[in-house]
Amino acid sequence: ALTIGIVGLPNVGKSTLFNALTRNTVLAANYPFATIEPNIGVVNLPDPRLDRLAEIHGSERILPATVSFVDIAGIVKGASEGEGLGNQFLANIREAHAIAQVVRAFDDPDVIHVDGEVDPASDMETINTELILADLQTLENAIPRLEKQVKIKKADPAKLAAMQQAQTVLERGDTIFGAAEREKLELDQLRDLSLLTAKPFIYVFNADDGVLGDEAKQQQLRDLVAPADAVFLDAKLEAELVELDEEEAKEMLEMSGQDEAGLDKLARTGFSTLGLQTYLTAGPKESRAWTIPVGATAPQAAGVIHTDFERGFIKAEIVSFEDLDAAGSMADAKAAGKVRIEGKDYVMRDGDVVEFRFNV
Ligand code: GDP
Repeated sequence: ALTIGIVGLPNVGKSTLFNALTRNTVLAANYPFATIEPNIGVVNLPDPRLDRLAEIHGSERILPATVSFVDIAGIVKGASEGEGLGNQFLANIREAHAIAQVVRAFDDPDVIHVDGEVDPASDMETINTELILADLQTLENAIPRLEKQVKIKKADPAKLAAMQQAQTVLERGDTIFGAAEREKLELDQLRDLSLLTAKPFIYVFNADDGVLGDEAKQQQLRDLVAPADAVFLDAKLEAELVELDEEEAKEMLEMSGQDEAGLDKLARTGFSTLGLQTYLTAGPKESRAWTIPVGATAPQAAGVIHTDFERGFIKAEIVSFEDLDAAGSMADAKAAGKVRIEGKDYVMRDGDVVEFRFNV
């Protein structure tokens, strides 16, 4: 499964946020692995289209797409040299598909900051420096080996050049992800190194009311982390929200001046950071969202339901959610000519409502 690793300095609210994520899992009863893996939290991707689909088809239940978060314990200064959990930490983070860095942006004299004061920019630098140092070590091991291979024509010089360019970026204190577009880095050439800072980043600002109510302050932080995405939430409030029923939670959110729960924002941002989208299936049993990468073809999408569906793919009957919603029923959508038959080269679009035809 696609997972996002949560990192951050001690005392920034990671556990609080993670508790909210795992408590939330209890509600998403469909994910048994979450109970075996205590360090995985699963969040539903909120999708109002599923409610409408269930209404149209009279579905018994709704199964939204999910995003998984892994708690990656303890980064401290010196982690890249084995301080704290050190190497174990690095091994765990290497397996994540994206990184969510929790950054403290709340004031509270009762909560001690490890470096003495609340300073988001400095915190991000501390964490990123550790990740950058770890990547530099990886490159310092890989480059001499590749140089030898290039000399005897057993490796592609373009790959060596890409690694050297990455090294320069890191030595300057930039992350690979942050600099990739600006510097036109050849990420494909770096892929097999699993560099930590080449993973997509999300910055999760654990904020207080002051920051949550201050658009200018948020914009300042957004600019600081661009091109990475920023999510603003109050971890303590999120932990309380998951204890409430839907109505109460909505009221509490409104009272705090927010229109969406932070966990929902985090799930949506995680989804787009990972380059994912969903297509939908619907029937009397269930209305369901399925996760596919942007650019997936119809057979690949079918394969997410069952590998046999991909192998035996014949065609797909597809209507866009908007067209089905407007028509009000499958029969009316068909009568209006909105239901298309697509073949194996069709590239899926977000919100396609699909029925696959296949041989088994
Ligand atoms: P971790 O070390 O990053 O896992 O941080 P914790 O989640 O354990 O939080 C450290 C302390 O900060 C705890 O006492 C939390 O109750 C408190 N805390 C976490 N989030 C918030 C927040 O949004 N606002 C305030 N005021 N306190 C928070």
